[in-house]
Amino acid sequence: MDRHDAIVIGSGFGGGGVAHELVAAGKRVLMLERGDRVPRGPQNWEFDGSLDLTPFYSKETPYAVADEIDRTASKLDKLLTKRTAAKSVASCYCVGGPSVFYGAVSLRLRPRDFTGDAVLGDSGATWPFDYDTLEPYYGAAEGLLGVAGEAGTDPTDPPRSSDYPASPAPLSSTSRMIADAAARRGMKPFRLPLAINYSESDSRSACVACTTCDTYACAIGAKNDVATRVLDPLLAAGLELRPNTVVTRLVTEGSRVVGVEAVDRQTGEQLRFEAAQFILSAGALGTPHLLLASGIEELNPGGDVVGRYLTRHCNAIAFGLFPRQVNPAQEFHKQIGLHDFYFGDMKQPELGKLGGIQQLHSPPVGLVHQHLPAGFAHLVGALIVPRMTGLLVMAEDEPRHDNRVMLRDGDADQFGLPAAEIRHTYTDRDLAARDALLLRAREVLGEAGALWCYSHYIHTFSHAAGTVRMGTDPATSALDEYCRFRGVDNLRVVDASILPSGGGVNPSLTVAANALRVGEQLAAER
Ligand SMILES: Cc1cc2nc3c(=O)[nH]c(=O)nc-3n(C[C@H](O)[C@H](O)[C@H](O)COP(=O)(O)OP(=O)(O)OC[C@H]3O[C@@H](n4cnc5c(N)ncnc54)[C@H](O)[C@@H]3O)c2cc1C
Ligand code: SF4
Repeated sequence: MDRHDAIVIGSGFGGGGVAHELVAAGKRVLMLERGDRVPRGPQNWEFDGSLDLTPFYSKETPYAVADEIDRTASKLDKLLTKRTAAKSVASCYCVGGPSVFYGAVSLRLRPRDFTGDAVLGDSGATWPFDYDTLEPYYGAAEGLLGVAGEAGTDPTDPPRSSDYPASPAPLSSTSRMIADAAARRGMKPFRLPLAINYSESDSRSACVACTTCDTYACAIGAKNDVATRVLDPLLAAGLELRPNTVVTRLVTEGSRVVGVEAVDRQTGEQLRFEAAQFILSAGALGTPHLLLASGIEELNPGGDVVGRYLTRHCNAIAFGLFPRQVNPAQEFHKQIGLHDFYFGDMKQPELGKLGGIQQLHSPPVGLVHQHLPAGFAHLVGALIVPRMTGLLVMAEDEPRHDNRVMLRDGDADQFGLPAAEIRHTYTDRDLAARDALLLRAREVLGEAGALWCYSHYIHTFSHAAGTVRMGTDPATSALDEYCRFRGVDNLRVVDASILPSGGGVNPSLTVAANALRVGEQLAAER
């Protein structure tokens, strides 16, 4: 047992960001990560390199889920989602967390996202600081993650004090087709900022614009995920990383955490680690689970607030079917975003803020074969997939008191973590906001020449957030403005749990920026 200055639990955006600041300040940091390293090589390009078909997507700690199957889904979608709707959800466990498999879209929240919104309900979801406070850290996070973007083309672009560190790759023909169609409908398409490396160097390969990016690990390490871009340099600078280490409990004495208990995932050995400071970053499902498993919520003045206000965005994909092959040159084409309806749509003003629309890749044919019934899959794979392209819609959802991660009766998992469940229901407004965006996405696909559109509703928790949120009111938020867990002197939370609201953009850049802010403040503490 070795005493460190700080123990960071979880190696994703939050853990990576905070460790970056602590290691730079010369602190002795131990990072405990339950997952293993994801090997890189040609196998990542095979269809079964997709996250859900790899061992890194696991139900070894299952979250039972009470998630209402969408009331408004089409018959076709109900048929398809029933096949995949699960009684429990899997999570991504690996060094770097889901960043290794993510889509690399790196967007900032907008200033208005920090001020709360009446249409999103009265959940007390106001941020303890404004956009200007986070702005310099957004710049630092873009630098750390090497985000390639183009400022000034997004009609809702927030103010920025630094330019993107890199420029995006040329537009593919599919992206040009979508951008032109959107522009003809009076919209202002913009280049999605992507954490992808486009320049060859001694230590890094440049992106080769393949078609397996989102949900796949990059075979050549050109995606700027946390493992490749953040942790590898930190390891060289002295970070101690212990993969395959499942933390099961935070041990407290009075108002301090004195250690963590863990299990070696490969040998089953029981472990204990001690440090002066503890930073919890196990994700928006894993973090409340660990806090509740440790009984620490009893020390927090908000108590029962730990695990509540779970958000996940209300996401769906509009797929357009075209009369010809859409992407014959097999180019990377997740490049265009549409934020024209981010703050609302004149057609349905009563819905208020809606969210964003982003281009998406069609899935590889082999992957389609895995998910559909045999005969149907071959028909879809051969005739339909090459003729379709998709737009992802991401609607902001309301942080509701009743949406939560909680412990439940049942057997503990193989490591001794008590059984947990997720309860989540979208509001009618969440679903209506998603449908309003879908209508616009279908409009763009139709303008581009699609003969028919199919809407697929997303039921995953890949954008889970808000379960241990920060705020000024101790009764409705477990963390203060520096993400210190109220009632405990030396515990901070820095993953997506901390977000009081999720806006209509992908969460990772905000999590990383805030973790840099919290890490800087902690490093400066004596
Ligand atoms: C397929 C996919 C695509 C996505 N695409 C995008 C995108 O394009 N842009 C974007 O912004 N976001 C995207 N996201 C969402 C994004 O990945 C998450 O919002 C982000 O990773 C959350 O960061 P985090 O720090 O909260 O936690 P995570 O990144 O989830 O990290 C948590 C870490 O803690 C570890 N852990 C959990 N429990 C324990 C334990 N008990 N002991 C030790 N370690 C533990 C986990 O293994 C994991 O490594 C995507 C997600 C998925 C799944
Ligand atoms: S598109 Fe580029 S960054 Fe993404 S997986 Fe392919 S090579 Fe890697």
